[in-house]
Amino acid sequence: MKIVKTIAEVRQQVKEWKSQGLTVGLVPTMGYLHEGHASLIDASHRDNDRTVVSDFVNPMQFGPTEDLESYPRDLEHDAKLVEAHGGDLIFNPEPSEMYHEGFSSFVDMTVLTQELCGLSRPVHFRGVCTVVSKLFNIVQPDRAYFGKKDAQQLAVIRHMVDDLNMDLEIIGCPIVRESDGLAKSSRNTYLNEAERKAALILSKSIRLGQDMVKKGEKDCSKIIEAMKSLITSEPLARIDYVKIVDCATMQQIPALDRPALCAIAVFIGKTRLIDNFFTEDV
Ligand code: AMP
Repeated sequence: MKIVKTIAEVRQQVKEWKSQGLTVGLVPTMGYLHEGHASLIDASHRDNDRTVVSDFVNPMQFGPTEDLESYPRDLEHDAKLVEAHGGDLIFNPEPSEMYHEGFSSFVDMTVLTQELCGLSRPVHFRGVCTVVSKLFNIVQPDRAYFGKKDAQQLAVIRHMVDDLNMDLEIIGCPIVRESDGLAKSSRNTYLNEAERKAALILSKSIRLGQDMVKKGEKDCSKIIEAMKSLITSEPLARIDYVKIVDCATMQQIPALDRPALCAIAVFIGKTRLIDNFFTEDV
């Protein structure tokens, strides 16, 4: 397993693999890897001859008041995890390698990005689409792996690939959770003991929503109200949003009459956490 810092080194390695007829999977990450990331690496290792993991805290997807500086980083730990899960190459560039002076081309999507996380994080998806396009151009993977944990991101990437005729397959992977239900996230490390307990309210409300759907509830406002009232019962929690949207458009819907995504974002103290479920998976 190799760690490289430059675009030229990635290109050289991928060129060599492709000349041998090998397929390449890409797992884009911001590092501080956990079992959620590991599940994507496992999936890529299963489907492809070689797996590249990008490990890059992308400044462009953080707003001015967000946690870019404090975002956790640990390349040594990441390297062990990638190796243990069959990854072949880590691409860990400096921001200056990805964004040279005068950088001024962006991938800006006008649909899907104005709802959910896009409302609270206005520059986020422009940063995500731009960096993911760059990674696709650099690595030229046959397949790329994204977690359903970031369900809106997955929908945005699929749409971008379709719009811009990018020649690769996008694979969505299930949410990996802690044993008590909390969705794994690099940001969970921000939580103190009391906040970690309080954070369980996210997965509890997701389970409540899933149960209501399972029992046949079709009225989105009833599901949302029940979930909101449970979350509000936790004093350390502050709701950013609880919404049910059409999977294809990310627009809110009144009734469960089509494939839908129920997505939540909740602040626990200062830490913003997300979780979701797809009604079709219930
Ligand atoms: P991040 O490093 O947070 O940008 O995440 C990199 C990739 O890992 C994204 O595609 C995420 O959706 C995915 N991911 C993060 N946490 C999880 C999780 N708990 N389960 C599954 N995938 C995840």
